[in-house]
Amino acid sequence: MITLRSYVADTFIAGAPPRAPLYNPATEEVLAETSTIGVDLGAAEAHARTCGGPALRELSFAARGQLLIAASQALHAARDELLALSMDNGGNTRSDAKFDVDGAIATLAAYGELGQRLGETRWLRDGEGVQPTRSPKLWGEHLFVPRQGIAVHINAFNFPAWGLCEKAAVAWLCGLPVITKPATSTAWLACRIVEILAERKILPSGSLQLLAGSVGDLLDRLGPQDVLAFTGSSETAEKLRRHEAVVRRGVRLNVEADSLNAAILGPDGQSGSELYDLFLSDVVRDITQKAGQKCTAIRRIFVPAPRLAEVAADLTERLGAVRVGHPRREEVGMGPLSTAAQLQAVREGIRRLEAEPGVRRLTGGPEPVSGLGAPEGKGYFVRPTLLQCDRPLEATAIHEQEVFGPVATIMAYEAPTDLAALVRRGGGGLVASLYSDDRSLVSELVLALGPYHGRLFLGSARLAGQSPGPGTALPQLNHGGPGRAGDGHELGGVRGMELYMQRCAIMGYRPVVESLLPRPGQP
Ligand code: NAP
Repeated sequence: MITLRSYVADTFIAGAPPRAPLYNPATEEVLAETSTIGVDLGAAEAHARTCGGPALRELSFAARGQLLIAASQALHAARDELLALSMDNGGNTRSDAKFDVDGAIATLAAYGELGQRLGETRWLRDGEGVQPTRSPKLWGEHLFVPRQGIAVHINAFNFPAWGLCEKAAVAWLCGLPVITKPATSTAWLACRIVEILAERKILPSGSLQLLAGSVGDLLDRLGPQDVLAFTGSSETAEKLRRHEAVVRRGVRLNVEADSLNAAILGPDGQSGSELYDLFLSDVVRDITQKAGQKCTAIRRIFVPAPRLAEVAADLTERLGAVRVGHPRREEVGMGPLSTAAQLQAVREGIRRLEAEPGVRRLTGGPEPVSGLGAPEGKGYFVRPTLLQCDRPLEATAIHEQEVFGPVATIMAYEAPTDLAALVRRGGGGLVASLYSDDRSLVSELVLALGPYHGRLFLGSARLAGQSPGPGTALPQLNHGGPGRAGDGHELGGVRGMELYMQRCAIMGYRPVVESLLPRPGQP
């Protein structure tokens, strides 16, 4: 059995027992174990502050971008090995594994290219300059300058590769060293990524350190220039929001948490239309991809009342046809959940939703199921589950409780105003998708739903085959949503860099202020 190692101050180190086991969720075989007991967190902090940060901040955006591109290429060269780890420790089918690993590689590359476009500078201009008084000599600009702290990244179990890289890419581009902490249950893939980057010495010493297990007292060491970026459950987020480092010492905290993402079929999504087909395939993919363990997965489906029976039947048929089993088997469309705890939580969650007034099951359910190709009685499998709610206004759990598995509820709406009110019951989400080519409906719903979401996906017949769907968080577009989703902001190209930089207004003699940032066409 493998013992995973943390990476601190240029040294790989295995924590002392007791160590937590990591499983293959399709077979329940123990693959590895890990702990951070005895790992010197003070050394990690010091190494990041004294070596990693200064070395990164000495570089321009372009030079940091070059590092990101090199990191992306190094992971790409190890892609097959990383996919295999993702299948074995994460329960991912090959396609699901690609979603995580290729997403990591692509996000590093995208931020690498952004760095090169930002060029040989180390700060960013924020908007246009301004003359704040009557004197033309006094001039003001807003700049973003890198914070001089460290970035601590705590990630969820579902994206050990993408979660590490989407956060680290942005922090590194801004000049902050990273201490990353993957979720323990699926940490193997993240550990291997760190090994690859460390072995090839792609980043300056101290830019990347890893805790393969509990975060210990690391957060107690953080201060006002530091950033804590968290992805995970609302419960853990709440603990972090109350942490003394955040409350008393002003550590900047970003939270990516739960979300009950909605998919809406517009009245123009007629049966047999390309728009309707796009809607069906996006919904089925977003329920079953990564066995629904995706923060952007569709949890609530809204359809025009007269279409409810037909859409429910079509989705039931497609979901019922998904083969659940060992992710290494090619014919399998959906692998197991990642852990035994996840399986229990999803089963309990389905039962909670089924207990709502007016809810009934169309397909799937919490009962045990054998995974195709898995050892008899083993594996954390659950069937894709579709529920129908006939009294969505009275229900609460279907709008408020994220069941983090392949589970969604379909319900009807009468008019766009009712629809917006129902979608908003989710209390803020990462993404909502609207399938309609009716431009007046689209503009009405963008205004009604935009304030409640970090991203809106507008599905059109013209997009058939042209988009990865609502469930893919692309580096160029904002990821994070208000309210229940944590009110975080990640990615979105240059916007994501705000988390790691300080907006600073500069006012002074105009030629001096303007000399800080040459304008296009100026030397
Ligand atoms: P979780 O139990 O909250 O764990 C998330 C991370 O926090 C893990 O690395 C965990 O470490 C760590 N952690 C737990 N307690 C901690 C504490 N007291 N102090 C510091 N760190 C702590 O969540 P999860 O089960 O891994 O992830 C599922 C949830 O993540 C879902 O609710 C999902 O919606 C959300 N999610 C959101 C996004 C997004 O971008 N918005 C993306 C993915 C997932 P250990 O593993 O060592 O316990």
